Amino acid sequence: GATGSANTGTRFDLEKETELRFEVEAGERVQLELLSGLAEIFGSELNRNKKYMFGPGSKIAVFTWQGCSVSLSGKTEVAYISRDTPMLLYLNTHAALEQMRQQAERDNERGPRVMVVGPTDVGKSTVCRLLLNYAVRLGRRPTLVELDVGQSGVSVPGTMSALCIERPADVEEGFSVQAPLVYHFGSTTPGTNIKLYNKLTSTLAEVFSQRCEVNRKASVGGCIINTCGWVKGSGYQALVHCASAFQVDVVLVLDQERLYNELKRDLPHFVRVVLLPKSGGVVERSKDCRRESRDEKIREYFYGFRGTSFYPHAFDVRFSDVRIYKIGAPSIPDSCLPLGMSQDDTQLKLVPVSPGRDLTHHVLSVSCAEDDTGDGTSARGRGVLESPVCGFIVVTAVDTQAQVMTVLSPAPRPLPRHTLLIMDIRFIDLK
Ligand code: ATP
Repeated sequence: GATGSANTGTRFDLEKETELRFEVEAGERVQLELLSGLAEIFGSELNRNKKYMFGPGSKIAVFTWQGCSVSLSGKTEVAYISRDTPMLLYLNTHAALEQMRQQAERDNERGPRVMVVGPTDVGKSTVCRLLLNYAVRLGRRPTLVELDVGQSGVSVPGTMSALCIERPADVEEGFSVQAPLVYHFGSTTPGTNIKLYNKLTSTLAEVFSQRCEVNRKASVGGCIINTCGWVKGSGYQALVHCASAFQVDVVLVLDQERLYNELKRDLPHFVRVVLLPKSGGVVERSKDCRRESRDEKIREYFYGFRGTSFYPHAFDVRFSDVRIYKIGAPSIPDSCLPLGMSQDDTQLKLVPVSPGRDLTHHVLSVSCAEDDTGDGTSARGRGVLESPVCGFIVVTAVDTQAQVMTVLSPAPRPLPRHTLLIMDIRFIDLK
């Protein structure tokens, strides 16, 4: 039950295995405090008598295994206690994965590689966060592989990435993203260039496997792969591709029996496909809501988040000092392709772009690839496509007369590298 007034905070007493769900109103902030007992948010434990702040639009569940009292102050859109949660099933899933890690440790094998799939708004990212938190709380070092190019939890939208998890997610800010490995995809849906999407999935799988070979803890920890909500047609094929690239052992299907049956049918028999219910607390997000959270991610990249403010730099970059590419040529009819070239080649082609006014507001990835030799391969032979990204800039103005563009950058000039990749994604800097 809840008691109290808005000023002093409303007190909620939760019985064991229940959760308090709340949403923060637009333009508001809500403060949460654990008064007694034990509680966690998406697998991160709350500290007693610490005040946690949640910004506008946050959708939160405070879960307790043992029972607790918390106080909430500020304007919530909804706040209610639910007894009906799938948390026990999620905990059992974690326990099964932990058993696989123990076995891997014993037998000198690798730990579980888990792919989390399902349509949009079923709580995929939340389940990933929960499983990673539970694993890292037991001293494991799992890897988060983020393949959701629309709503990345690790980097800006339009990227695919991997992150070693070394401590539980911060209750307010999520996982600390100190040294993620990030690749440029360039748009917010895999369908824009499914060939590139699958190629980058393979690249991430290779890099992860290489790391597992040299790092026993990473190997035993395994990985949790978050995927896109696009589960039909090529989106489905991309899931099957991912399962094979990472050689996943477990697939967790959230909320969709059809997808569960399809994957059971199409994946090798040794892959354990498990159907899990979604939580009734997961809130559907509108298109606008998604766009806003993407925008927010980019803003955070440049300006920081809450306690930590960053001060981005603005400077001019001469066209002649950089090479700008778009990945993928527009597809042309098969009959018009040069002899020996396939549509695949066009989707993975680096197309040089001469900067114009239409570049304004676009986000560009700064590729780690070194010294472009002009044909898209670096001096070391690694292609730009397979090279990770070392940062992002936004084009704020283009002067075609002077042949320069002004960019917003997290670091002062000069740019660390000179190969830039254009994203479809735009960011309007209102600061
Ligand atoms: P997408 O398809 O966009 O990637 P998703 O399936 O990964 O979505 P999440 O991002 O995990 O879904 O969850 C959607 C929203 O619901 C998030 O804001 C999350 O904080 C919230 N949420 C998840 N579980 C709960 C819960 N039990 N109670 C309240 N809110 C929740």
